[in-house]
Amino acid sequence: MLRDTIIRTAKVTALVVCVAMAMDYIVNILIMKHPAAYSPWATLVISTIIAGPLAYSLNSQKHGLLKLQAELSGTLQAKQLAIEEVERRRAEAEDALVRLRESDRLYRLLADNLTDSINLFSRSGKRLYMSPSIEKLTGFTTEEYMQRPANANVSPENFERIVALVRDLVPGGEPRVFEYESVHKDGSVIWIESTYSRLAGEEGELLVTSRVTTERKKLEIELTNALEAAQTAAAAKSDFLANMTHELRTPLNAIIGFAGVLRGSSTLSERDARHVGLIQDASNTLLTVVNDVLDFSRLEAGGVELDPQPFDPRVMVASCAGLIDGQARAKGLVLQVSAPDDLRVMQADGPRLTQVLLNFLSNAVKFTNSGGVTVNVRQVLDGDQGLLRVEVTDTGIGIAEHQLDGVFDRFSQADAAVSRRFGGTGLGLAISRRIIEQMDGEIGVDSREGEGSRFWFEIRAPLCELAPETLLEEPTLPDPDQAVRLLLVEDNAVNRELVRTLLEPFGIGVDTANDGVAGVEAVRQGQYDLVLMDIQMPGMDGLTATRRIRAMTEGAGSRTPIVAMTANVLPEQVANCLAAGMDDHLGKPINPTKLLEAVARWSGRSHVEAATG
Ligand code: ADP
Repeated sequence: MLRDTIIRTAKVTALVVCVAMAMDYIVNILIMKHPAAYSPWATLVISTIIAGPLAYSLNSQKHGLLKLQAELSGTLQAKQLAIEEVERRRAEAEDALVRLRESDRLYRLLADNLTDSINLFSRSGKRLYMSPSIEKLTGFTTEEYMQRPANANVSPENFERIVALVRDLVPGGEPRVFEYESVHKDGSVIWIESTYSRLAGEEGELLVTSRVTTERKKLEIELTNALEAAQTAAAAKSDFLANMTHELRTPLNAIIGFAGVLRGSSTLSERDARHVGLIQDASNTLLTVVNDVLDFSRLEAGGVELDPQPFDPRVMVASCAGLIDGQARAKGLVLQVSAPDDLRVMQADGPRLTQVLLNFLSNAVKFTNSGGVTVNVRQVLDGDQGLLRVEVTDTGIGIAEHQLDGVFDRFSQADAAVSRRFGGTGLGLAISRRIIEQMDGEIGVDSREGEGSRFWFEIRAPLCELAPETLLEEPTLPDPDQAVRLLLVEDNAVNRELVRTLLEPFGIGVDTANDGVAGVEAVRQGQYDLVLMDIQMPGMDGLTATRRIRAMTEGAGSRTPIVAMTANVLPEQVANCLAAGMDDHLGKPINPTKLLEAVARWSGRSHVEAATG
């Protein structure tokens, strides 16, 4: 910079000196023609002395001015930029304001026109906002509503619940929903569903959205009432079925029992014996129908509880085949069982599986006229579980393809002609399906019309080591040499006679009592080896009588084994018998073999022994 100034100063000084010397020459020599006055050296020195500092000073000033000018233009530029920036920001702010106004308008539009009402409260409970839609919900305007005390719209109990619910809300956590009754401005009752959420953030406001659910609630109440009515009707149906089957069993008991007694008589002519046989078969069929109807209605109501116990599939298959073999032979059919010897014992409801297998087998025999029926059993082990598959294959009439899907439906029979020819209720397979489904198993059929059918089921159940002794137990009958004294407490004269007729040939002395009171008295007075107790009796019933006997303090009567003999066969009814102090349960119609087995098992033991095993 200094160098520039010096150079420029030198240039200007040189120029001034040259001009001064030129002027000196022109004026003194050329114009004045006075050479004596021409003094170039003096002019050089004087002009240098004057022009040098002057040029330097002018140069410096010019330089200062230029600098000032540059600074000034810099400031002006900055100012311009600042103005532009301010302008840009103002435009942005205006834009944001427009957008804010628009979104505010939209929010307001939404809030004002929502069917739900929105409420915002501060953490301290101060109402910050309430959407005008509250009027649509409650009839009160926002102003009216705000003036009402917070608990004016709900019952005190619900208000307490809401307060507790709000207290438990976590900021930013799950909203909670509560439905409550409220009162509309016009006095009518309305149902409101409110959703409460505590907002995340420092403020932690409470957001409440509410909607009217009166119509939905009405529907819900109607549905609940309808459900209750349906449940009551189902319970009434169940009770009716239980009563009806009880009433049916009582006469059936006499028919089946005496037909059995008569059939064993040697004095009947061949024709009469055949007729008695027909009566017995028909009444047994009727008993199956009664049992099926009761069973199905209970399964349909979901009322059957499974009772998984150790059970041996081998024993199940052998005993079912044993039961059906007679029927198969009578039709000239060959019944074969194919089961591996090493089948493991499983923890499952054996009696229910037996019921399914028996149903498959009796159908197979019923619907097969020539050829045979085969039972196949397979067990696949998988750790401590076993998969059991049982198949019953027959060479019978088969089922048409379009009828296959329906055979497991209730009251479904492949076709009317079949049902006329073979009889049946169409309930057996429906019951079987429900049993297997309740065990989470699978059931199915493969069949071709005219070629036979294969019905199968598969269940998965835990394996167990235990040998199911009860299933392997051989039935024992009473020892004729051992005198047994038995008390039968039974109000129905025919049943009393039937039991006597069944037991007396075995040397069993049967005393009878007509009701619970007489039964308790007889036990108090006499020494019995066993009491057979009916349940439904006029006056004192069998359960009360049993409790009275068990409560006796004198004599050995209180320890006499008591076996229920009743048409009350539902599981809870059996459980009631045991809970009252009975030792065993025999269902009616009486199965003579089971009756004799029970007499042999219990006579001579005492109740305490029985209870301990
Ligand atoms: P039911 O045998 O009492 O009529 P099920 O529910 O046991 O009732 O059987 C329903 C229908 O399925 C039967 O009526 C019959 O038409 C058909 N069905 C069942 N098992 C067989 C079979 N092994 N062969 C041919 N049809 C069968």
